[in-house]
Amino acid sequence: MQYFLGKSGKFFKANLHSHSTVSDGELSPEEVKKVYKSNSYQIVAYTDHEVLVPHKELNDDDFLAITAVEIDCTEPGVKFPRAKTHHLNLLSKDPDKTTFGCFNLSHVWQPHSLAYVSEEQKKINFPFSYSTEVLNKAIKLANNEGFLVTYNHPYWSLQNLDGYSGFEGLWGMEVYNSISDFFGTPEDDRPFDDMLKLGKKLFPVCADDSHKREHCCRAFTMVECQKLDYGEVMTALEKGDCYSSFGPTISEFSFDKGKFFVKCSNAQRIELLTDRRYGLRVLKEKKPINEAIFDMENFIRQNKDDEKTAYVRLVVTDENGKKAYSRPVYLDELENF
Ligand SMILES: [Zn+2]
Ligand SMILES: [Zn+2]
Repeated sequence: MQYFLGKSGKFFKANLHSHSTVSDGELSPEEVKKVYKSNSYQIVAYTDHEVLVPHKELNDDDFLAITAVEIDCTEPGVKFPRAKTHHLNLLSKDPDKTTFGCFNLSHVWQPHSLAYVSEEQKKINFPFSYSTEVLNKAIKLANNEGFLVTYNHPYWSLQNLDGYSGFEGLWGMEVYNSISDFFGTPEDDRPFDDMLKLGKKLFPVCADDSHKREHCCRAFTMVECQKLDYGEVMTALEKGDCYSSFGPTISEFSFDKGKFFVKCSNAQRIELLTDRRYGLRVLKEKKPINEAIFDMENFIRQNKDDEKTAYVRLVVTDENGKKAYSRPVYLDELENF
């Protein structure tokens, strides 16, 4: 049996997008920790706008703060509600990191955030402009500096395929964002699928983007690793030993001899989607379902020639329409076939 999720059975619950009083959030970093910890999260990425601030003082046996920053670049000359924008989260593999290369002082739009900018950081002035080419340079720089980069809330940013298809080097893309869902334009997994179909390998992210208490603890990423250790968590994220959700949980996603096996919390739909005009689903009848087996032997045989780009991905939907998403599994990863 080959496991994509559930081999160790040890999952840590993370919110990979949050704001605090360091930028435009209402809760202090300590209050953010308190809220998430009391709702059984163990990991929070502090992605305050434009400033990279480690919060190691918050770490304890059951809580890990990921050092991170959210950067943005907005279309010039258009009024804000209609201006297109690109927002990227940079998650640092090094917990002690306090500078990053795609920083520009003029982008720090919360005056009080300036207090968190070191003299060393102020010397770096990345020449931002609203262009895919320039932002690809920012992403490349971030990757070289050890950041995993997520493309945030494409719908809220008023983007379509033309806007995001040119990006390279992304680790993830948001498929759900709590604040967009409740207070803006709901996200979904279409832009993520567009990117996968262009041959870009990236992971789905459901996150809160919490700015106030009421945005917190709706979405999560489950990270599968042995212990709550910064290096282990970031390695698991980088490898894709994780899934993202705003409702259901997945306890197993595995493969053996042409069949995929799924175990999950109560669901009304368990689907295996592909990049082809083909997908399989198991629907609830009278009672919610908790497992599914998908025979994909024919699909794998027919698409073996494209095994580097052909993928399957799991989507679990609960009775309230809330979803959990696995990463794409490429046919060239499959063993025991
Ligand atoms: Zn944003
Ligand atoms: Zn944000």
